[in-house]
Amino acid sequence: MNQHLRRTPTRLADGRELVYFDDSPAYVSGERTRRLDDPRPLGDRFAPVTGPDGHEHPYTGPEMRLDPLTGDWIPLAAHRMNRTFLPAADSCPLCPATPGAPYSDGEVPDTDYDVVVFENRFPSLQSVPGLAGSPDALHDQDTLQTRAPASGRCEVIVFSSDHSSSFGALTPRRVRTIIDAWADRTEALGHEPGVEQVFCFENRGQEIGVTLHHPHGQIYGYPYVTPRSRAMLAQARAHHERTGGHLLRDVLAAELADGRRIVLATEHWVAYVPFAARWPVEVHLAPRRDVPDLPALSGAERDDLAVTYLELLRRLDLFFEGPDGAPVPLPYIAAWHQAPVREGRELSRLHLQVFSVLRAPGRLKYLAGSESGMGAWVSDTTPEQIAARLQALAPTPAAAPAAQWVESWPDDVGADRVRQAFAAAYPADGPEGGDAGDGVPEVRVYAAPGRVNIIGEHTDYNAGLCLPIALPHRTYVALRPRADSVVRLASAQEPGAAWTGRLEDVAPGAVTGWPAYVAGVAWALGQHLEATGGSAAQVRGFDAVIDSCVPYGAGLSSSAALECSVAVGIDDVAGLGLAATDAGRATLAAAAVRAENEVAGAPTGGMDQSASLRCAPGHALLLDCRPGLDPARAVEQIPFDLAAEGLALLVIDTRAEHALVDGQYAQRRATCEAAAATLGLANLRELADSVVAAAAGAPRAEPAFAEALGAALDRLPDDVSRRRVRHVVTEIARTQDLVSLLRAGRASDVGPLLDASHASLRDDYEVSATELDVAVEAARDAGALGARMTGGGFGGSAIALVPADRTRAVADAVAAAFAGAGLRAPGFLLALPSAPAHAC
Ligand code: ADP
Ligand code: MG
Repeated sequence: MNQHLRRTPTRLADGRELVYFDDSPAYVSGERTRRLDDPRPLGDRFAPVTGPDGHEHPYTGPEMRLDPLTGDWIPLAAHRMNRTFLPAADSCPLCPATPGAPYSDGEVPDTDYDVVVFENRFPSLQSVPGLAGSPDALHDQDTLQTRAPASGRCEVIVFSSDHSSSFGALTPRRVRTIIDAWADRTEALGHEPGVEQVFCFENRGQEIGVTLHHPHGQIYGYPYVTPRSRAMLAQARAHHERTGGHLLRDVLAAELADGRRIVLATEHWVAYVPFAARWPVEVHLAPRRDVPDLPALSGAERDDLAVTYLELLRRLDLFFEGPDGAPVPLPYIAAWHQAPVREGRELSRLHLQVFSVLRAPGRLKYLAGSESGMGAWVSDTTPEQIAARLQALAPTPAAAPAAQWVESWPDDVGADRVRQAFAAAYPADGPEGGDAGDGVPEVRVYAAPGRVNIIGEHTDYNAGLCLPIALPHRTYVALRPRADSVVRLASAQEPGAAWTGRLEDVAPGAVTGWPAYVAGVAWALGQHLEATGGSAAQVRGFDAVIDSCVPYGAGLSSSAALECSVAVGIDDVAGLGLAATDAGRATLAAAAVRAENEVAGAPTGGMDQSASLRCAPGHALLLDCRPGLDPARAVEQIPFDLAAEGLALLVIDTRAEHALVDGQYAQRRATCEAAAATLGLANLRELADSVVAAAAGAPRAEPAFAEALGAALDRLPDDVSRRRVRHVVTEIARTQDLVSLLRAGRASDVGPLLDASHASLRDDYEVSATELDVAVEAARDAGALGARMTGGGFGGSAIALVPADRTRAVADAVAAAFAGAGLRAPGFLLALPSAPAHAC
């Protein structure tokens, strides 16, 4: 039912079942697979055991006894004291294995997982082969001492591989995966012989007696119908006999009609505090449709449940405030009431009961004399008070901010702005003033775009491929040539940082700050002229003013936009004519790269400047970064007409600032270069080409590709370089795949490639950041066809391909997700593939 889910079952060393439930694109697509073996030396769990008498006895598993006074079965979990293979105190058995480290005693063999379920190693309910039998068969009414094997199943469900996370911090997509896993296990355990009822639950918090903090829940398959379910069935039966109605449906209808205790109501779900709630905090979440159990939920009901349950947990975690006013994370039990496997299904109705033992911060409700001795409850509050608090915590419109849009400027707007700024900076009547009529050259305006890379990340320095487009967001420069060699600069983005210098003084290291990007271009073009037999003096001084709507440092290359607007300006006023041809533009791009690398001192590849100068509207630029390639052969225009396909490309500027990026970039680069050297190759592009060739052009998901790549990875010395190289090779192949789809007019099918690129950058290349992951997840959850981080990583921007009519909704959802996660508000841009640098 859920195409975003892959289920991978396997067995642990002692024979227990383990099932991975993955929603990460690389696993869903089958590109990556889960570790299936368990190298621990665990013995067969059903092997004979040595008793206190020193003799071997057949393993019998846990026992349960019937309480003749209540008719309740009591499983005896005493054997659980006999744990033989306790995990080391400092290691969490639910954490994934450590990459590269020898596998120790964690329960999950893989180094990562999304959601995983496995049989509890020390179960209180366990079906032992040969022993299973219906408890009824063992009834001995006469002695009043009825015992039976406590058969059934105890499973652990781990919600996240992140030890310090919690259910409430998960994304809706991950919660949907958990819902699907619960449904899967309910179905599977219901088919186990002797299981009469399946119970999915979570205990959260120390107050509930939780010893493992790793976010997880449990799933029990009982060999009997539990006391609470029996009591509810008896009530439901009596209600039906009396009224002909269905008890749980009528309770929901009564709550909806009353309305006072309704906490939230969505298309498919209603949360209410029950009329006779007994816990200090208690809320029930029920589907609107009559549904016996989780497997019976539709896809739409599951999607809605994921969002609704998270909203409920959000409010529960705000329910109590500590003395300092900070919210107190609520210890809770979340219990899924499902119809038993056989008995009374028609009288049952699925619902979730979430409740807490906390009555105030630091104060627990003890189940004391009346509750424990008599089962007679006294509530310390009223259901209406609980409901009022939960209602008050509903999100207010102000809490969900609307997306902040970074609009692009049409050329006339940008040109006007920059002309006005020019007139203000260099008044016409000033000493340097004048206008065209006075024989002073006119002010001309040039524009150059920022860019965003569609795919092909961290491939440029590996001689790979990338695929940028020019943004409609441009940097504008108003420029007036001078007769001398003086350069005067001002920028609307750098108020108070105007600059004046002389061209002959510009050189690497001689100019600092933003003017280096501008003066550097003049210097680099002079160098080009000298190198090609001309004279640097052909480049004269100028007065220039800059204004721009390209965000700074957002990974959208405001630096290249600045350089390239100046480059086409100088080209024009100096009469070089380079901007007129693509080959000439390649020369201008090279000069801009030199300005950035040598004068501004920023070590970047050439993608940004090529994109700003050589992109075409409605196209993406396929850029081949192999060194020494003839510039004309290095680029290719790939049709990318988003509007025609009813699509939009949303850019999310996360506005995240991250330190240490430079060191990380250099490290990645060095790892790639070392890996290429180990493989005897000049660069990783050669490896990518040979892997693609070995797979005979087969799609990336085919085994031939994985085999050829695996063979190369096996020759690398460590896990880190293997993962880095896997990213580079698969990313180059993904770029080729994406280009093939665009050529085939299938832009709306590229989403999974964007998703896979993000997963690869996050997991294998490890350059993502929380903000980028939040942006990508939230965009996908809100209907994006695919999303990924773009640019170098650790911050900057993400892109999402969205149906055009969903653009605003996706942006609002991402903005809300940022607010919800306590992150700075992001900025949003619409990226229509636009024109390259030009005169306005
Ligand atoms: P990005 O290119 O990703 O936006 P960079 O750090 O490479 O980020 O470039 C940003 C720098 O480029 C700014 O700090 C500034 O020095 C310069 N710059 C970019 N746009 C302008 C502008 N409009 N005015 C002045 N300087 C600019
Ligand atoms: Mg830059």
